[in-house]
Amino acid sequence: MNSVPQFDSSFETFAGPVADWTARLTAGLTQSLRARNQTLGHLEEEILQQTRVLERKLLEDAAQKKADQSPPECPVCGHKLTRRTHDHPRTYQTRFGPVTIRRLRGWCRRCREWRYPADHALGLSETGSASPSVQEMAALVASKMPVKEASAVIERLTGVKLPPATLDREARRQGRQAQEKRTRQDEQMRTAQGAGQMLPLPEQPFTLVIELDAWNIRERDDWGQSAQRRTAGDEPQRWHWVYGGTCFRLDQCVESDRGRPQILSRGTVMTRAGVDGLRGQLFAEAQRHGLAQAAKVLVVADGAVWIWNLSGDRFPQAHERLDYYHACQHLWAVAHALHPDKETAARIWVEPMLQKLKGGRTPALLNDLRTLAKRLRHKKRQVVAAEVAYLEKHRHRMDYAAARRAGEPQGSGAMESTCRQYQCRFKRPGQFWSCVGDEALMCLETFWRNGRWHLLFPHITHGDPSKN
Ligand SMILES: [Zn+2]
Repeated sequence: MNSVPQFDSSFETFAGPVADWTARLTAGLTQSLRARNQTLGHLEEEILQQTRVLERKLLEDAAQKKADQSPPECPVCGHKLTRRTHDHPRTYQTRFGPVTIRRLRGWCRRCREWRYPADHALGLSETGSASPSVQEMAALVASKMPVKEASAVIERLTGVKLPPATLDREARRQGRQAQEKRTRQDEQMRTAQGAGQMLPLPEQPFTLVIELDAWNIRERDDWGQSAQRRTAGDEPQRWHWVYGGTCFRLDQCVESDRGRPQILSRGTVMTRAGVDGLRGQLFAEAQRHGLAQAAKVLVVADGAVWIWNLSGDRFPQAHERLDYYHACQHLWAVAHALHPDKETAARIWVEPMLQKLKGGRTPALLNDLRTLAKRLRHKKRQVVAAEVAYLEKHRHRMDYAAARRAGEPQGSGAMESTCRQYQCRFKRPGQFWSCVGDEALMCLETFWRNGRWHLLFPHITHGDPSKN
């Protein structure tokens, strides 16, 4: 039986550094205590600065021990390594500053590759010099704010120096890994393996709500070639669609202390991979939330054609609802066509129509509009007829009175507000993205929102840190 390797806790190797640290810390704190204008903040700063040296030393020694313990086997195939040599140094950026580790290198005959088993044991990637903790930092902060700002914030809060270009590269790499993780997880949902991802479901029958929406992101893939492409008669595309969906159980909607609606647990999907990408991701997410077990599935969204195609394709059992405010806008369009530039007259006309819509009297409402269209001529008739056709098409999706009685959402506000939150990061003035970059960072943001951040960073052992 192998003996369990133990870390030498006898401070023998740390006796020197600890003595230095105690001396420096005592001197610093004494100075701070004497200075009349120094606050608790100064004391915190002093302890933080002085302790880092010791933390770095502790980490370096422990990591070196772990590296020395890793067996001389290929971490990929398990084959014994040959042509082994020692002391190959590599420096990593860690939470406590740069740390250098000396590693064993060996040749794997089976893979025909040079291998460093220590890198694998320590969770350090083949490329990049960030420790797992720093990898997480880069991923988290870059998915929340622009990299230049993120770099300064990380340095101020943690002392870790990550120049913007390094931070950007690391965050994207983490984002790509998150995408791979997402793909694997979604694939599992199609098989029995997905059972482990299911959220706890209630015993009593429940309604699953799915809301969808889309927004625009600005990208510049052909950097510096715009003029050239325009000359060739090819206007570069700048704005692209980001597709999103969210799902939650109706019994998870509660009122907050301040009386605001709140959803306790929900799963969000946001992607630049087109409607096809959304379809697969949202289906897997809905499955996690009990799509197959739900007594009723409800899809709520605005009038975009792709939404209802997707809904019919992936959620054929669903009851569909057109966003209430969206339907109202179409009635307002009629009001403004009838009374151009006369807001009061438009309002007087629209009020009873809105009442009918709200009250679920859709047949009466459509009758009124059809009668009205017949009386009109030319352009006005065209406008009204187009709106009538639109509302006719969605008539089975406008049961707002029934929605209120059942306590169901009348609109897709939850999804719209989620889209706005993503836009706070991904749609800032002067920002341009690449399709690859935005998908990677959006994927990170979505893992965080869905409370699955710990799945990306296995060193998080105390639950999930995201509190959305
Ligand atoms: Zn191998």
